[in-house]
Amino acid sequence: MTIKRITLHGLRLPLKRPFKIAYDSYEDIESLVISIESTSGDIGWGEAVVDQHVSGETWQSARSIIAEELAPLLIGRPAADIGAFHRAAEARIRHNPSAKASLDIALHDLMARQCRRPLHSLLGGRCHERLELPYVISMLSPEEMARQADEACRQGYRSIKIKLGDMPETDIERIARVREVLTPDMILRVDANQGWSVKQALHVIRHAEPFRVNWYEQPVFIENLESLARVSRATDAVIMADEPVHGLRDMLQVIRLEAADMVNIKLMKSAGLHVARAMAELGMAADIPCQVGSMVESSIATLAGAHLAIAHPNIIANDLVGPAMLSCDVAEMPGDSTHIMLDESPGLGVDIDRDRVRELSAFEDFID
Ligand SMILES: [Mg+2]
Repeated sequence: MTIKRITLHGLRLPLKRPFKIAYDSYEDIESLVISIESTSGDIGWGEAVVDQHVSGETWQSARSIIAEELAPLLIGRPAADIGAFHRAAEARIRHNPSAKASLDIALHDLMARQCRRPLHSLLGGRCHERLELPYVISMLSPEEMARQADEACRQGYRSIKIKLGDMPETDIERIARVREVLTPDMILRVDANQGWSVKQALHVIRHAEPFRVNWYEQPVFIENLESLARVSRATDAVIMADEPVHGLRDMLQVIRLEAADMVNIKLMKSAGLHVARAMAELGMAADIPCQVGSMVESSIATLAGAHLAIAHPNIIANDLVGPAMLSCDVAEMPGDSTHIMLDESPGLGVDIDRDRVRELSAFEDFID
């Protein structure tokens, strides 16, 4: 059973409402959906959603790296040779983690489908019953963010993540106004998406102390892990590293510098599940709990993250909210609006609506 043909679909996924964070805003989401067909007739699905501010990839650059450099490495190879794929992909081209992730996810899905087992059973086995989803709020006015937080509480969410990072004084007000509408047991997370300097971060953290923020994600700029370490050393607040931590070497640097208390693992940064799982293991050895985060992805990449999250004891939170933000997805997410629940269906456990994939496609490439 070897790989016969790979199809790449360039999709524009419509959002329910525009998404605004410290360094960009989005009207819709550009996704690359991959299907890998094997000689057995099984199909594995994968996806890349790039963030050019994080990995330097664009929709079109990832398209050409997948179609011209990476996908041809797989034709005629068995799906289970995932380690060999990563070694060949690394030797072929550096970086480009989201392009690599799309094929890594599709290979994992295909391998698990061929074994007729759910993917989580091949990633260590289930260790969480289900995944509780946070509600993510864009960076807006303090009033509007509080209004959305209140609405999320009424919908049954127990955890709210707010996007901050433009003006420290407004950010403190945003935190205060959102905490005001939450019940005391609710979790409040902050993500500044690199928006603050070290001093601004410490200023916000100090003034927001009464509002019980559970953790602060990536308060400072991506390029300098030492700045993140300065924030971490100067406060008792829990600091999570996100954008600067892509793979195992970055994880090691975080550990060496004691730069953060937690790490946000994303498949689009780690080149997929193969390295992401190793990062979760390394984090466990260093007492660094991890979150599985995501870009705004369709149910395909979101479910890949969910299988990893449900199978790893060191993954204590997730940010798998892409499908909840889309007005049109390529499959139904298993679970309800506040939880992801994975059953024993093979692979990612999802039925892709192929008509929907075609409708949303702006282009298609075939590699065989
Ligand atoms: Mg983040």
